Amino acid sequence: MAAFSLDYDRYRADANFRLADVDPADTQKLDEDQADDVFDDNRKELDDWQERLYAEDKQSLLVVLQAMDAAGKDSTIRKVFGDLNPQGCRVWGFKAPSKEELSHDFLWRIHDHAPQKGNIAVFNRSHYEDVLVVKVHGWASPDLIEKRYGHINAFEELLADHGTRILKIMLYVSKEFQLERFKNRLRKPDKHWKFNPGDLKERGYWDDYMDAYQTAIRRCSTPWAPWYVIPAEERWFRNLVVSQLVLDTLKDMNPQYPEPSFDPNDYPPDSIV
Ligand code: ATP
Ligand code: MG
Repeated sequence: MAAFSLDYDRYRADANFRLADVDPADTQKLDEDQADDVFDDNRKELDDWQERLYAEDKQSLLVVLQAMDAAGKDSTIRKVFGDLNPQGCRVWGFKAPSKEELSHDFLWRIHDHAPQKGNIAVFNRSHYEDVLVVKVHGWASPDLIEKRYGHINAFEELLADHGTRILKIMLYVSKEFQLERFKNRLRKPDKHWKFNPGDLKERGYWDDYMDAYQTAIRRCSTPWAPWYVIPAEERWFRNLVVSQLVLDTLKDMNPQYPEPSFDPNDYPPDSIV
């Protein structure tokens, strides 16, 4: 069997990042069956590392997921994080802000959901919407949008300085792929609930969204909170890459089970009553 070697470093964005350089259908010519086996192992390992993180209670992990409609954010969350202990893993979806949220700064509603020590938080959409949809529609002035990249970097650095590892992932699909996904949703009655006619209007702004994504990713891929742009048209490959990134990040954080506050030799298991 061929050696299995996944390279995700190539998807890490820097200040010169170009979306056009990413092939949304890329699978690195990996074998799907082998990938599924690795993915299954990753899910089990993730469960172990989450338990360590929770037991250690010193660090936390924030995974930010962004994508265009129908690119697969929901199913990625279900597949990659679905087996984790819900006690230590929270998923937050950020929809259009409420009146109250709009009467505060854009990070106000976000900060409250940053993960506490020992926990993993997954953001399904995030503070990046405020430099994406808000920019595309001109709902904030260009000057304010410009300052927001700096606000975001400072906010993420604050979280990082307090023990939060941050991993930001864009699931990248093409405009044609999105159309096929919308058509599939309309063909299947049990998928109609996932179709929102408003998504077709947003689709009309595709190029503006791609510009806004590219700028946000360039400006906000920092050493303390890197952006990865993952080819997401092949679900098995998308799941594999996201699971590997999260797993390797947790391993790098290297959480340790805490030392017991008692001497285990004082309590031989068969002697306690
Ligand atoms: P689904 O896959 O179920 O469609 P979704 O994340 O697209 O999930 P929706 O309720 O369809 O959820 O859409 C949420 C909408 O809220 C998106 O169009 C997004 O752009 C918008 N939104 C999120 N944050 C903001 C924000 N800060 N300002 C304005 N709009 C926002
Ligand atoms: Mg939607």
